Amino acid sequence: MEELMVDASAEKMKGMIPFPCCRGEKVIAYESSSGRSSNKCPRCGKFALFDYDAMMAVPSSAARGAAHKLKLL
Ligand SMILES: [Zn+2]
Repeated sequence: MEELMVDASAEKMKGMIPFPCCRGEKVIAYESSSGRSSNKCPRCGKFALFDYDAMMAVPSSAARGAAHKLKLL
């Protein structure tokens, strides 16, 4: 009798991806979610790139230097 869940969305949830900047803030990934998208953190306003296939997120605030930084890791 959990009618609240039905009202929220008919889609199945795949899971939640926490923001890399604020772990308390999360983005919900649905079964149909795939690829990547940039989302703004509701707490600090920073942007993060969410990968719905890998179910993880990386900070995307430094977009211009991001590719260079990733190569160093
Ligand atoms: Zn944040």
